[in-house]
Order: sequence, then C-alpha cells, then structure tokens
Amino acid sequence: MAARVLLGAHVSMAGGVSRAPARGAQLGATAIQCFTKPVNRWMEPSLSRAECATFRREREAAGIAVAGSHDSYLINLASPDRRLLRRSLASFKKELARAAALGLDFVVTHPGNATDEDRDRGLAQNAAAIGEALVAVPASFRLLLECAAGQGTALGSTFEELASLLRQIPPAVRPRVGVCLDTAHLLAAGYDLVNRYEEVFEAFDRVVGLERLGLLHLNDSKAPLGSRVDRHQHIGKGALGDAPFRRIMNDPRFTSIPKLIETPKEANTVWWDRRNLRRLRSFVVEQAQAGVGAADKVVKNELERTLDLGIERFDRGAYFEAHEAWEEAWRRTSGQDAAFFHGLVQAAAACLHATRGNRHGAVTLLRKARQHLDCLPSPYRGIDLAQLGREVEDYISGARGPAARRPRIGRVGGIPEP
Ligand SMILES: [Zn+2]
Ligand SMILES: [Zn+2]
Repeated sequence: MAARVLLGAHVSMAGGVSRAPARGAQLGATAIQCFTKPVNRWMEPSLSRAECATFRREREAAGIAVAGSHDSYLINLASPDRRLLRRSLASFKKELARAAALGLDFVVTHPGNATDEDRDRGLAQNAAAIGEALVAVPASFRLLLECAAGQGTALGSTFEELASLLRQIPPAVRPRVGVCLDTAHLLAAGYDLVNRYEEVFEAFDRVVGLERLGLLHLNDSKAPLGSRVDRHQHIGKGALGDAPFRRIMNDPRFTSIPKLIETPKEANTVWWDRRNLRRLRSFVVEQAQAGVGAADKVVKNELERTLDLGIERFDRGAYFEAHEAWEEAWRRTSGQDAAFFHGLVQAAAACLHATRGNRHGAVTLLRKARQHLDCLPSPYRGIDLAQLGREVEDYISGARGPAARRPRIGRVGGIPEP
C-alpha cells in the first residue's frame, strides 16, 4: 500500500474544536493542527465529553490521520517570574489534558523566553516544567518542542538549545518529547535552507537526532536569513522560495513526517490554504515523473516485505533471524522508520537473550527497545508498539525455557500507514 502523504494545515477552531477536522477535510488535508482554546487569553476551558466525542467522530469522518494542537502564546515555562511560571504551568497542564481528552497525536509547544537573559537557567527550568506537566498528564501524544526564530529572549532557536532542553527533561518522560521544525523559523534563526539544505539537516541529525523529528511546519518567510524575525509567508513567495520545499516534499527522510502549513490567514483563508497545499503536492508529482518517485516506491515495498519477514520469524520464535531481517531495514532507513526498526532489532535481541537464560541482557535490551519505540506514535506501520513492549516484557520475566508463552506481533488492521 502506498504511504499517504501526511499533509495539511493549521485550521481554525472557531465554533468549537470539533469543527476543526471538517475544515481540514475542506482542504483535502490528512493532517491538521488547531488550538484548543483562545490562545491570547488565560482562560482554560475544559472540554465536555460530548465535544471530545464529536471531535473524534468528525476526525474519523474527515479521514484525518494525524491531529494535534499548538499551545497558548501566553505560556512561558522559562519565565524568571515565579507567578508567571505558576500560571504558565497550570495553563500548559490544561492544554495537555485537553489534548489527551481529544485523543490528539501531538502538542506543539514553544520553548519559553528567558527574559532575565540567563538562558541556562531558562532551559533548565523549562525542561523541569515540561517534566512535571508530562508526569501529571499521562497520555499517548508526543510533545513537540518547536524551533524558534530567535526573536528577543526566546529559547530554542539553535539545535544545540533544543538538544539541551531535551537532555534536561527527566528520562522517565523524555521519550514522549520530540521536535517540530518550522522552515520559516529555521531561516530566520540563520539556518540557510536555500543554499545549505543538506548541511542544515545533517547538523540537526548530529545535534538533536532525526528520530526526534515529529513534525514539519512548512512556511515561507517574509523575513530574510538570520533576521530573527518570525513572519510567515505563502509557499514560494518569500525568502525561501520553492526550492527548499520541493526538496523537503521529496526527501525520503521526511516521508513519514507530517507536514503542516501555517501560512498567513487572508480574507479568503480556504483559497490560500488550498493554493499552498496544491503547490506542495505538485512538487512531489514532479519528481515522480522524473522516475525518482518510482524508485522510492520500490524501496518502500522492500521495506514492507522485510518488516513482514521479520514479524513472521519473530512470531515463531526465530529471534536471531528476525533480528537479522530488521537490522537490514534499519540500516537503510532514517528518521522515524530508523527508530522503529532499531527498536524492533533490540526487541528481538531481548527475546533472544531471554531464550538463552540471560535475564540481565534481556532487560537491558528491552529498555533500549523501548527508548526507540516510545518516541513513535502507536500503532506504527500497523504494529501496536505498547502491546509489543508488554508481550516482550512478559516473555522476559517468564522465560524459563520453551514453556514460556512466546510474544507475538500480529499487525493491526485499518490503521493509516505512517
Ligand atoms: Zn510553526
Ligand atoms: Zn512562526
């Protein structure tokens, strides 16, 4: 099955958040982002059960594969002002609770502002606050730290600061956190996507890790390279131009990463959103015509076959052979797919150790498997990752020879491919 392009827009929640999915459908979107409250006010409405149920139903009907929210602009988890921090943290927790109630896949958050210019203190405090909020709201969505344009004292405008923030988030909840890259913010922060595209993403991979990337905000920029000014523009009409977007839309590292526009909302928002999305889609077609898309498809089919081969082996207890199949796939992938196959490799290795009576090795490898798999939305490529984790854990704790019940992977049906 050909993977669906996960492409869409930030859509309005006017009239209630349950109206958002239909607005996505109007644009032909498979992914959406919306606010869950008026973002320039401190009011924190709780969503009724009925509203959440309607949202889920509408989302299903609209065929939205990925849905998430963006947190309030007032929140500043890096503020040196204790009162503002308390207020921000309360608001942030409410945002996470609403996201959980709606069954969202991600929440985008802007790292805060170190208004006292003590950036190290700001990062440490921001990380601790995120940790506290994630502990308070257990849910399956991924929290995504958005890279900043670097205006004023905003944190997170360099890959190093994003990495530092991630590192300081408590390990117990860190797997639930990823990164959102915004092309307009990257350019404004000095990352030259026009002339140094490869270098920029290589640096990101080296410093943060592509497996942490959970979302791309595709916006052109009114402000030039390094301006540290956050001004979004329609695709192709700003300082970025078409070229970087054409590359992103065809970059195999980003195939499974949802892509959303947050381009200016003009008088005729629907017309502009459709125009921008059409333009992005057209870039993909161009390359398919050049034959590259077809080659890509062959690789993708092979990947699916390797995945299935590994599952078949795993389910009959041939862990070494399953490990071999998936390791092959892991070497050829990047981004979320690499994290996925890496996790499967470790899970198979954990079972192998358990079979051989090496409990300690098995537990260590299971922990590593979890580190990779917990970064991903579940199900991923049709596999319920939480269920897999539990099965392997049960096997390891009960493995005393062939009598122990073997874990099984079984694929989940009817799930949109990542
Ligand atoms: Zn953005
Ligand atoms: Zn922005």
